[in-house]
This record gives sequence, structure tokens and C-alpha cells, in this order.
Amino acid sequence: MYNAKAYSAASATALLASTTIVRREPTETDVQIEILFCGVCHSDLHQARNEWSGVMPTVYPCVPGHEIVGRVTKVGSAVSKFKLGDLAAVGCMVDSDGTCPSCKAGLEQFCPNGTFTYNLPDKHLGGVTYGGYSDSIVVDQLFVLSVPTNLDLAGAAPLLCAGITTYSPMRHWRVTKGKKVGVVGLGGLGHMGVKFAHALGAHTVVFTTSPSKKEDALRLGADEVVLSRNANEMQKHAGSFDFILDAVAANHDINAYINLLGIDGNITLVGAPEKPLPVSAFSLIMGRRSLSGSPIGGIAETQEMLDFCGQHNITADVEIIPIQKINEAYERMVKSDVKYRFSIDMASLKSE
Ligand code: NAP
Ligand code: ZN
Repeated sequence: MYNAKAYSAASATALLASTTIVRREPTETDVQIEILFCGVCHSDLHQARNEWSGVMPTVYPCVPGHEIVGRVTKVGSAVSKFKLGDLAAVGCMVDSDGTCPSCKAGLEQFCPNGTFTYNLPDKHLGGVTYGGYSDSIVVDQLFVLSVPTNLDLAGAAPLLCAGITTYSPMRHWRVTKGKKVGVVGLGGLGHMGVKFAHALGAHTVVFTTSPSKKEDALRLGADEVVLSRNANEMQKHAGSFDFILDAVAANHDINAYINLLGIDGNITLVGAPEKPLPVSAFSLIMGRRSLSGSPIGGIAETQEMLDFCGQHNITADVEIIPIQKINEAYERMVKSDVKYRFSIDMASLKSE
């Protein structure tokens, strides 16, 4: 075991603060990574503040962070995928049982015995796993991804959650040329959704509550932008979408979007608001529309997404912050004031 520097929340109401945590020495299949950048996901905030207490209660102290890129500093004797000095990345999962039908199908995100990167029982050290707001992490090679070398690292970090969470449902629902696709909420996830929908060739429409994001949405690849609080603008798109990705972090009227779907259209929730969203049965019935959800993506698909990003030169638009600004960043995230992902420069942790 060795000590690593980190930032943690001590309770649901505490500010995140500097701390020291213990990491395991790499086992023979482990990769040790010096973390260079870690993206700031709204899930980090939900979890740090115990906003998902009914489903995933937070264990304190909590070290969030699951959009990790860095350099390999040590490998176990049986590690074949990585060598010292390689770029490496870790997303939302660090382990799964490898034997259940989901794992066998490459869908580790559905493994009943999977381990998330933070806040789930750590089978090596006891306690819970600690995430990427840290200078170092040790992860089994099966859950370590390769980062295409042409990508900017600060912008690549958010691909590990915001990227795969939007890429996976778009592939599942066959977003492609000729489809009309909506993306609701232009935050960290939403802006990646726009980039992917555009790269996959779909006619892409952004729904935003923030008039100030209109120009950016077009620059990011949207063909049209709708201010969702304007009922007339919304009505113009009634019954016309093949697929809508809802990436909103707060409570909102989802029926307004269900009504924009065409026959057999699907709306997939990736945003995970604290409270349940009421759904009108008639909105779904009339049009045989469907509502679904989607969590992150499997490891093979995450690598596929990273390679796709390498080929298309796609990264997140980031505002790089030192770890000391994390609490301010959380406050801005609550106000939808992020363009479009905070990425923590982990070199800032050296001064703690
Ligand atoms: P984010 O950067 O804070 O973006 C959320 C966006 O939602 C905001 O930028 C804003 O976009 C919109 N929004 C916020 N409040 C709103 C309101 N009251 N009404 C309507 N729109 C509102 O968050 P994120 O990191 O992208 O995460 C989004 C959600 O996805 C979170 O709940 C997060 O926990 C969840 N998530 C799920 C998964 C998964 O596997 N399913 C993975 C990661 C994250 P506009 O300014 O454009 O309106
Ligand atoms: Zn996330």
C-alpha cells in the first residue's frame, strides 16, 4: 500500500478538501497510473452531495472522479496491454465478475457484481473505492483503456464518462445519416451527444434552456437549436424525431420531448435527476413511442468510442481548472454555467 493525494467530501454538505488516501500496490494484473487530468461529471456532484441516497447512498469520505487520463507508472508482471509511460484511461468501472452473461456479452456496465470507480466496496482494501480526484490510481488492466495519441489529454478525459454515455445509446438506437436526432441539455454529456450525432451523420437538434449557448451549439455540430422554454419553437418539431437523448441533470417536463418523437421514436434518458419524472401514458401510446435509459457503456465499446474519437479528432470542450477550484466548479455546474466540461489539471494537487 502507498499514500496518494486526493480531494474528498467528508459529508453531504462539506466542501471537498485535500486529503491523503491509501492505494494498493499493483497486483500482477494491475496498472498503476499517474493521473494527469480528471473530468468533472455532474454525477460526481450528485454522489458527493448524496443526492442519489435512495439508489446509491454515499459512503464518506467520498473521492469522486471517473473521467481519468494519465500515464502508466507501474505494471504487474502479467500485464500485457500496457507498459511504463503509456497513456492510459479509466472510466466509471474498475472491476466486474467477468463470468455473468452481461460480462460475457461485453456489457460490464450491467454486471450485478461490478465495481464503480468510486463509492462501491473495494475488494482489495476494504472500505469503498476512491475515484480520480487524486494523483494516482491502481486498476486491473481489463478496465484500463488506451487513449489515441493524437487527442488532447484534458479534452480526452471527459470521453471516459460523458463520451461513452452519449455514444453508447446513439449506437444502440442506430443514430445515422437520415435520422433526426435531438439532444436535450447542453452540458458535459449533451455537448458530447451533439458531437457524436453530427459525426454519425444525423440531422441534429439541440434543446437548451440557455440562450447564451445557441451559437456554441451550432459550432459543436447542431443543425438547429431550440430554446426549450419557448413553446412555439418546441411545437414546430412535434412528432418529428427518430431519437432524442435527454441529458438533463435536474427535474424537467419530459412529456414535452416525448411529444416531439415520431412513430416508434425513442427518447433515452442518460440524465439522472434526483426526483422521479412523471410520464404521460398517452404521449407514449399515441405513436408507439418508447422511453428508455442507458448507463455508460461496456469496456469494448468504450475503447471503440475512444478510437472513433481518435479518427474523427473529437474531444470535449473543456475549461481546465486546478483542483483547488473544484467547489466553485460544482456551484457553476448547478447553474448550468459550464462550457462544456471542467477538466482538473492534476498537477495542481502537487502543491497540497
Ligand atoms: P451538466 O454538465 O451539469 O449538464 C446538464 C445540463 O442540463 C445543463 O448544462 C443544462 O443545459 C441542463 N439543465 C440543467 N438544469 C436544468 C433544468 N432545470 N431544466 C432543464 N435543463 C436543465 O451535467 P452532465 O455532467 O452532463 O450530466 C447530466 C446528467 O447525466 C446528470 O444527472 C448526471 O448524473 C447524469 N449522468 C448519467 C450517466 C449515465 O450513465 N446515464 C453518466 C454520466 C452522467 P442547458 O443549459 O442547455 O439547458
Ligand atoms: Zn460521469
